[in-house]
Amino acid sequence: AYRKGGYHAVRIGDPFSGGRYIAQRKLGWGQFSTVWLAFDTLTSSYVALKIQKSAQQFAQAALHEIEFLSAAADGDVENTKCVVRLIDHFKHTGPNGQHLCMVLEFLGDSLLRLIRYNRYKGLKLDKVREICRCILTGLDYLHRELGMIHSDLKPENILLCSTIDSAKDPVRSGVTPVLEKPEGNANGGASTMNMIEKKLKRRAKRAVAKISERRGSMVGTLGEEGSSKTERCLDGIDMRCKVVDFGNACWADKQFAEEIQTRQYRAPEVILKSGYSFSVDMWSFGCTAFELVTGDMLFAPRGCIDYEEDEDHLAMMMELLGKMPRKIAIGGGKSKEFFDRHGDLKRIRRLKFRELEQILIDKSKLTEAEAKEFAEFLRPILEFAPDKRPTAQQCLEHPWMNVKTQNNEDHVEAQMNNLHMKG
Ligand code: ATP
Ligand code: MG
Ligand code: MG
Repeated sequence: AYRKGGYHAVRIGDPFSGGRYIAQRKLGWGQFSTVWLAFDTLTSSYVALKIQKSAQQFAQAALHEIEFLSAAADGDVENTKCVVRLIDHFKHTGPNGQHLCMVLEFLGDSLLRLIRYNRYKGLKLDKVREICRCILTGLDYLHRELGMIHSDLKPENILLCSTIDSAKDPVRSGVTPVLEKPEGNANGGASTMNMIEKKLKRRAKRAVAKISERRGSMVGTLGEEGSSKTERCLDGIDMRCKVVDFGNACWADKQFAEEIQTRQYRAPEVILKSGYSFSVDMWSFGCTAFELVTGDMLFAPRGCIDYEEDEDHLAMMMELLGKMPRKIAIGGGKSKEFFDRHGDLKRIRRLKFRELEQILIDKSKLTEAEAKEFAEFLRPILEFAPDKRPTAQQCLEHPWMNVKTQNNEDHVEAQMNNLHMKG
């Protein structure tokens, strides 16, 4: 993929935007881009540099993403609304063409990694609650204030926040930025690069450990997956996170695509092509919240051909949520492919109904009472009728979101302390 029209090859120490940003190490990649930790020499802080593939369609997609990220940043001057911040963007010309680059605030690992790190056993309820509060804050902002639908909400697209220390203060965090190309790097010595990268990683890890020790907080970067320390590590940590990846976002009144969302998080009205709105994000949120609690995906349909997967998916939804109201089942552009005129699935005739509450008890460590309360929160979000699903704002006000626990109190106290320090 490192060819004309594709990814831009980056070496540690490479300068971008006239030398303002210096590449430090790779953070991740996607279908469209590679993402690098970079040092911003103007503000002396770390940022995430997303370098898009250069071909026309990728440039187009980047412009789209920049439009939505800019709108989100413009409406959130204080940067408190749980959406990743776009700091800057520019063009970078390399051997493979011209690449649009986005400079984003530097965040930590995704919720997907957090779930894996916890060995798919699910997180404790107060952690889930904190994470849900952030996601809902982000969605409420996008929906109500901006009129924007994210369209691809899932654990992979929610990233934990790094602490201010690591982002703003490299000296205190103990991570020294690379400010020029390390020797030997220019000739492409792969081993040298690896060594430097490993060294940087070790240093970063030590710094993370130090910070966690000192302040009882975490940089949002997790250790090895499934380490035995997992639960202890997560205790007492403020689980803040932000919504990222606006590559598929759209305006509610100006939609682009019929087929949206990642399969497992896709709402029924999208499968049936009945038209959609903000409530598709709420459906994905519900699937994500379930996954945080249990460590398992709520719906993981199988099937070799598309309609099989769709029908399997619809069957799974009905097994959990009961039969789809006939009007909804037969009301979509694709309804006839799956449902007969009575509103029964054409090919999958026998459904095994299951109770959400019972699944929660079986799949998580929740007590019966906890499972019941969580199911009461979750069930309305997974309503077949899109208009009946609660909004993000309504979810934030739900009793389950406002349970009084030690951690919730700590949360409030921490915020107060923060204010004192700022004041
Ligand atoms: P996709 O195929 O998912 O659309 P993409 O090319 O649009 O991929 P992103 O999903 O935005 O790229 O980012 C790719 C990866 O880079 C993420 O999964 C994450 O690991 C990392 N990443 C992205 N943004 C940040 C950030 N702000 N801070 C830290 N890491 C990030
Ligand atoms: Mg992504
Ligand atoms: Mg993307």
